[in-house]
Amino acid sequence: MHPFTLERPRDLSAALAFPAHSGRHDAPTEYIAGGTDMVQLLQEHVRRPERLVSLAGLLDNSIDVGPQGLRLGAAATMADVAAHPAVIEQFPVISQALLNSASPQVRNQATMGGNLLQRTRCPYFRDVGYSACNKRAPGSGCAAIGGENRWHAVLGTSENCIAANASDLAVALVALDATVEVRGASGQRTVPLIDFYRLPDATPQIETVLEPGEVIAAIAVPANAAARRSHYLKVRDRASFEFAVVSAAVALEMDGARIRQARIALGGVGTKPWRVPRVEAALAGTTLDPTTLRRAAAVAAEGAQGRGHNDFKIELMQRAIVRAVEIAGARA
Ligand SMILES: Cc1cc2nc3c(=O)[nH]c(=O)nc-3n(C[C@H](O)[C@H](O)[C@H](O)COP(=O)(O)OP(=O)(O)OC[C@H]3O[C@@H](n4cnc5c(N)ncnc54)[C@H](O)[C@@H]3O)c2cc1C
Ligand code: SF4
Repeated sequence: MHPFTLERPRDLSAALAFPAHSGRHDAPTEYIAGGTDMVQLLQEHVRRPERLVSLAGLLDNSIDVGPQGLRLGAAATMADVAAHPAVIEQFPVISQALLNSASPQVRNQATMGGNLLQRTRCPYFRDVGYSACNKRAPGSGCAAIGGENRWHAVLGTSENCIAANASDLAVALVALDATVEVRGASGQRTVPLIDFYRLPDATPQIETVLEPGEVIAAIAVPANAAARRSHYLKVRDRASFEFAVVSAAVALEMDGARIRQARIALGGVGTKPWRVPRVEAALAGTTLDPTTLRRAAAVAAEGAQGRGHNDFKIELMQRAIVRAVEIAGARA
């Protein structure tokens, strides 16, 4: 492990005074929360900050559900959010996305903020034995394009990076129009989660719109009629402790047998959590008839680009949408 200094500031203002940067690769100072992703990357020499600033004990860990919707403090753990009765009842897709993530041990330790800022599972990014990775070493190339790319994205890719975003939670939150409360030394701002993540384009090492010294303080999910009838479907290579090959977060507002409003986001296929508004529009006003669902889901493939090993994801994501809509639609 590269040597670093660990700072344990007494309060958040002191932490924000450090020019730390999350989600960008070359930062000399970085934050650490639960440490479940950061420590692994430090051990593998993937990240080599000179200073780590601990956020432990500095951020809100509350979980509040009210008429406005759901508010999650950035320090709330994955386990606590997943098990919260009001989250299970009113926002089941969030609880399911979390319970389908990682392991009980990791979920007990990992935080909401850290989950949204975990780094990609691209094996070339996580193994410094490979020199070509634009995300880890800007300008070095991309070993996954033309390499082993079964796990990689088919939507939102660029010629510089095709890494998939790994967070299941983010997919569920994007389907529900969540926003993140960002706090820095100069104040606070609110960013829709879908705009929080950047596409790789020419700078895949910059993953979010966070500026140096800013932290995620909280997540807000607006109240929505569709959230109660929601489902997270995750397709993975084994039943637990595994990231998504493809996932679909679906929330439906029904009018009898017809879909009044559908909200759908995909995981495992995008360089960021991928909302599919054209599929949602195609589903509005339709029934749960399989042929109709299949036709609407096909719209998700527009613009998708496989790179060989991951071509199967283009068909699989359509099937995941159909199945997730059927399951959500069958909920009482
Ligand atoms: C074996 C294993 C399996 C896993 N499987 C899954 C899975 O199936 N699905 C899934 O979604 N995830 C999975 N994960 C990832 C896991 O969810 C993340 O490691 C965890 O959520 C990170 O949270 P943390 O608090 O430990 O973050 P840390 O490791 O402490 O930090 C992660 C990143 O977030 C930044 N950060 C943390 N908090 C903040 C904040 N409030 N503001 C700004 N920056 C911040 C840090 O600087 C760092 O860059 C798995 C992890 C492991 C180890
Ligand atoms: S896909 Fe992105 S993270 Fe993976 S090797 Fe290419 S540049 Fe690196």
